[in-house]
Amino acid sequence: MLTDSHCHLAYPGLQERLDEVLAHMHARGVTRALNICTTLEEFDAVHAIAMRYPGIWASVGVHPDNEWVREPTVADLTERAALLRVIGIGETGLDYFRLGDRTVADMEWQRERFRTHIRAALQVDKPLIIHTRASADDTLAILAEEGQGRARGVMHCFTENWSIAKHALDLGFYISIAGIVTFKNAQALRDVAVKVPADRLLIETDSPYLAPVPHRGKTNEPAYVAHVAQCLADLRGVPVDAMAQQTSDNFTRLFRCDE
Ligand SMILES: [Zn+2]
Ligand SMILES: [Zn+2]
Repeated sequence: MLTDSHCHLAYPGLQERLDEVLAHMHARGVTRALNICTTLEEFDAVHAIAMRYPGIWASVGVHPDNEWVREPTVADLTERAALLRVIGIGETGLDYFRLGDRTVADMEWQRERFRTHIRAALQVDKPLIIHTRASADDTLAILAEEGQGRARGVMHCFTENWSIAKHALDLGFYISIAGIVTFKNAQALRDVAVKVPADRLLIETDSPYLAPVPHRGKTNEPAYVAHVAQCLADLRGVPVDAMAQQTSDNFTRLFRCDE
């Protein structure tokens, strides 16, 4: 049993061939996937997929890269989070990678949006799915401050160093590893991934992006989370079945997912 903790099934590349994508998942033993929302506009489509297919769950959130979209209020998030099969808030967080001609000070709108998600997560007591890029210190500072020790969740597609991982773990967060870990040039990430406590580790595809080796450069899909599990199992010297079971158990515990 494998669980893909983060994918975007409503995105082009996956959405138009969902039956095939689901068949590939089941053929590889990937029994569950969390379908991640990135705009309020997209939410109905994301949620409908979770309602239609067994094993698919949904989140609600507005990605920090999506600037010119409807700005969520706490109520927008909590109302949707109360719907059937919605188990997480996100993806949310900060992304200072594409500042263009702006400075970090200009990104207050991202930080305010992130705080809105944390408030919603505390209200409904659901985990946050955190995206952070070129912004880890601010991401963790806001999580600690706004989360008041009660926020929980996962740092998705983790690519930061061990000191950031340690800080996130100390806040009670899980670390999710994506297909990047299979890339030749990702030794630094492998060094971090091997140190994450077994009971805090999740795996994901972030499909349709970031397909793992040997599918690198192609459209990614949840079935390929099997390659992430295999890579981590080899790194950590455990059988792949144990890695699959452990990361699935961790997902069940974090998201209080009853199936
Ligand atoms: Zn992300
Ligand atoms: Zn994502």
